[in-house]
Amino acid sequence: MTGHPHLFAPLDLGFTTLKNRVLMGSMHTGLEETKDWNRVAEFYADRARGGVGLMVTGGMAPNAEGGVFPGAAGLFSDQDIANHRIVTDRVHANGGKIAMQILHAGRYAYGPNCVSASAIKSPISPFPPKELDEAGIEKQIADFVTATLRAREAGYDGVEIMGSEGYFLNQFLVRHTNKRTDRWGGSYENRMRLPLEVVRRCRDAVGPDFIIIYRISMIDLVPEGSTHDEVVTLAQAIEAAGATLLNTGIGWHEARIPTIATSVPRRAFAWVTQKLMGKVSIPIIASNRINTPAVVETVLAEGCADMVSMARPFLADSHFIAKALAGRADTIAPCIACNQACLDHTFSGKISTCLVNPRACYETEITITKAETHKTVAVVGAGPAGLSAAMTAAERGHRVTLFDRADQIGGQLNVAKQVPGKEEFFGLVNWFDTMLTELGVTRKLGASVTAERLRGFDEVIIATGVSPRVPDIAGITHPKVVGYLDVLRGQADVGQNVAIIGAGGIGFDVAEYLVHAGESPSLSIPDWMQEWGVADPAEHRGGIAPEGAQPAPPARKVVLLQRRAKALGKDLGKTTGWIHRMALRHKDVRMLGGVNYEKIDDAGLHISFGAARERPEVLHVDTVVICAGQLPERSLADALIEEGRSCHVIGGADVAAELDAKRAIDQGVRLAATL
Ligand code: NAP
Ligand code: SF4
Repeated sequence: MTGHPHLFAPLDLGFTTLKNRVLMGSMHTGLEETKDWNRVAEFYADRARGGVGLMVTGGMAPNAEGGVFPGAAGLFSDQDIANHRIVTDRVHANGGKIAMQILHAGRYAYGPNCVSASAIKSPISPFPPKELDEAGIEKQIADFVTATLRAREAGYDGVEIMGSEGYFLNQFLVRHTNKRTDRWGGSYENRMRLPLEVVRRCRDAVGPDFIIIYRISMIDLVPEGSTHDEVVTLAQAIEAAGATLLNTGIGWHEARIPTIATSVPRRAFAWVTQKLMGKVSIPIIASNRINTPAVVETVLAEGCADMVSMARPFLADSHFIAKALAGRADTIAPCIACNQACLDHTFSGKISTCLVNPRACYETEITITKAETHKTVAVVGAGPAGLSAAMTAAERGHRVTLFDRADQIGGQLNVAKQVPGKEEFFGLVNWFDTMLTELGVTRKLGASVTAERLRGFDEVIIATGVSPRVPDIAGITHPKVVGYLDVLRGQADVGQNVAIIGAGGIGFDVAEYLVHAGESPSLSIPDWMQEWGVADPAEHRGGIAPEGAQPAPPARKVVLLQRRAKALGKDLGKTTGWIHRMALRHKDVRMLGGVNYEKIDDAGLHISFGAARERPEVLHVDTVVICAGQLPERSLADALIEEGRSCHVIGGADVAAELDAKRAIDQGVRLAATL
């Protein structure tokens, strides 16, 4: 008994049936560009074995000018078709279905040959697009058709035509980017001509028994975006043009409203998709921040959609569906929506993977096999590095004992989960807890471990983490100085006026924690919409509230400081840093770079600026919170090494600089895979 009847109801598309209501949404993993087609095939085949109803590939360019970046993958040659055949054959052999996404980036294409409806540069690209003439538009349509035909030849079950997120087809739809006066611009009828022509001609080319998903922008979240009535008009016309399914797109890439970050509430946009239900007769797919079987079930049971798309959750756990079907949703590795190893990698030109599951996209490189000899393994430290090492070692059949001086597992994850907008970390710690029990890991918590205690184990893994750096500032022992751990654990008395020393990930987290009061907006869709200025597109074009963001007033007055003279938060996640910076600006946090910390006394924090120690200022604060980075906690490792005993040192105990859960978990899994 699965407890998810809506999720597991088959979906009859007439000429084919999907076995459940879950689509694995398109993700650009970078795998196709490796040209290692066995690796690409294994990535998708693993998800097919995991039971997902239908998968969509990463975006394939229909032509060179439409590629997201120069050299972006597409089906351009017979060899490309043969390569993709390897993927589709492997997926079908494993019981799956797969559609290829055709992604024309338009003015988002990162190159000088990009094209669009009008020659208007996007704010997120340095390249102004060329305005297409009539022949140019016809060529783009023809290239979509060719890509669709080649996808079928390569064995795909269908295509997804990317019409949302501000890409090429979306650029024709709204006046924001389409200033044309010919038959492709002006009235809405003219502006929607291009997506309709693309769908109609692709359908005509492939015949009726091929899936065509159209990804429609349900809410643009940009000025001059579509109204709900326009979305309905388009959806009905797209259905008439021959689409099989309508998938949801939320927000353009240039929107200044977060749409998938962890601080966005779960199923925050399902209501937008629901507005289209009943207006078309083809199935509609909901998307964005849907990450557990329970959330999928709620979205479907409440009638928000006929089907649900999840992308990142299938990086975190390829067997999401199979585990839900077996009634073991508690064993699904959760996607915490951090973007740290998936989208941040994509936008840095690296292959995607997953913070929670380093095997994602590395299926052929990191293999977890049963060990030939079952060893006794001691893991010291139950933070992310130790937890992943313990879990992986136990999966391989080793007998694992996990030690931590704290009386609960999680380490710094327990601190992170206190920050408003990081509630997903609760699920991550719970998952580790379940898996340790499931895998029979012995826990020895609540007591420090000595080198002596570790005698007799075949392998010893030291994952003792980090300790906060205490900077050398005059007055650092003043009673108004507190550490970030005490603040986030609720053990410090923090006043109304606060200075935070250090503006790394933790300084930003502490600032968000201190300016919020009451329930986190990430747990309330209406509060979150008000905080970011999201409106109903039936009332306001593009879903942008005319009054803009209306955040709750800050609970405290906070100044965030760093010594470096660059803008604060520049080193935060590539796809999420702007959200953190904007969230703090919404709360009037003062951000100061290039400071010298002169001293701390009863008056507050004394600072000056630059090498010449100019513009001295006293910040009259009640509390100074130290978030000045970390030092490795290696005393146990050093004691073992001094005694000449071997041990493996991982995570922050190994290298504290720039440590995050991504590196810690990756190191833990990779080490344990080899023991
Ligand atoms: P961090 O990112 O290295 O930042 C440390 C901060 O302390 C910097 O702002 C640094 O700025 C300052 N600092 C360093 N030495 C100092 C000194 N001696 N005196 C005064 N200030 C000093 O470290 P973190 O904030 O502790 O974060 C640890 C890790 O967790 C990082 O890798 C971070 O990316 C990760 N994390 C990420 C997130 C996220 O949202 N993605 C959230 C939390 C943590 P100056 O040297 O310019 O003063
Ligand atoms: Fe989800 Fe983070 Fe993994 Fe990306 S890296 S799939 S957001 S948990």
